Amino acid sequence: MALIPIVYYSHHPALHKVAATVTEFNDELAKLIQDMYETMYEADGCGLAAPQIGIAKRIAVVDVSEDKNKPFCIINPEIIERSGSELMSAGCLSVPGTYTTAPRASHVKVRAQDETGTFFEMEGSGVLAHCLQHEIDHLHGKLNVDYLSPLKKSISLKKMEKFLKRMK
Ligand code: ZN
Repeated sequence: MALIPIVYYSHHPALHKVAATVTEFNDELAKLIQDMYETMYEADGCGLAAPQIGIAKRIAVVDVSEDKNKPFCIINPEIIERSGSELMSAGCLSVPGTYTTAPRASHVKVRAQDETGTFFEMEGSGVLAHCLQHEIDHLHGKLNVDYLSPLKKSISLKKMEKFLKRMK
């Protein structure tokens, strides 16, 4: 397994475009998913989408369990049902150093494929619902800060740049 560098807001075109559908379910994909799990855990995130490592493909990994031991991947995911709405504040590994609020459904049902290409459906509320929506947004080139007004967005992005400078 290997860690893959995470890319930050506007530093990579993959973050801002619609990701491509995955059509080949092979060893290469399985390895990528293992690397994404490792990268997500190392960054202490509860989700990571392939565009966040510069790969514009419809792949995301998620683990919202407390002990970080229940990872799963969603490939070519689609939200097929949503209900309720709430404003949710969240961080993003691609916009570190800042939390921003986005409107989210409180419950979603998702249809996706696993690493073998098998279709499955899952549903969730609360943190799981928010995380699924956040990661699926990434696959449409949309980030949490994109929900903000231009002024709030520029403040968030400045916070991120400051944070990144401190990390160097
Ligand atoms: Zn994110």
